[in-house]
Amino acid sequence: MPESAEEVYARVVAAVGADGHLPMPPSGEWDIFPWEVLDGAIVPRTLAPPSDEPTRGGEGDGAPCQACTEGFDPARIVWEDETWVLSHGGAPSGLPIVLSLSTREHLDLGTLDDDQASQLGRITNRLVRIMENLPEIGRVHVNRWGDGGSHFHQSFWARTARLTNVLGSPAMEWDDIIPPGPEAVWRDDLSTVAEKLANWGGEARV
Ligand SMILES: [Zn+2]
Repeated sequence: MPESAEEVYARVVAAVGADGHLPMPPSGEWDIFPWEVLDGAIVPRTLAPPSDEPTRGGEGDGAPCQACTEGFDPARIVWEDETWVLSHGGAPSGLPIVLSLSTREHLDLGTLDDDQASQLGRITNRLVRIMENLPEIGRVHVNRWGDGGSHFHQSFWARTARLTNVLGSPAMEWDDIIPPGPEAVWRDDLSTVAEKLANWGGEARV
């Protein structure tokens, strides 16, 4: 079962102390990171002038779609059926469980047919219920960004209950900041999620 807030907190305190600061995650170097330090204060980054819309992977003259050219890494597949693939990121991260649901075919949100769209709604609803019913999980956030790759992918972010900094959209930043928990715990939780999702169809792969 997922770690408690006390276990996560103890790991952070062991790393940097109760008043310490964890290292900046890689996203701090990204162009899209919206903050910078100016005269010792955090301020919003200067907004760049308008330019061309970036080309997404799998579109136009952008990079080839990784999912279509390389397929899904079997080592990362949690659950799948004939239309959908649920994957993990390959290793534990700061949040207890982070999953990505993709279509097998190269589709995007807005181009799903009604049957695919209703499947997505049912899987999303079941997955959130399954993950939120695990012990120590406060809530599961569901996000579809799609600014990097054009192949449909929607992410599920389970956050630890009672870690009161880790709420709302910043929970995704904390996923890169909090030191990852034990791999055995993470794999056990992935198995639980996959088995429960497979009760409605598809195959558990972990
Ligand atoms: Zn694709």
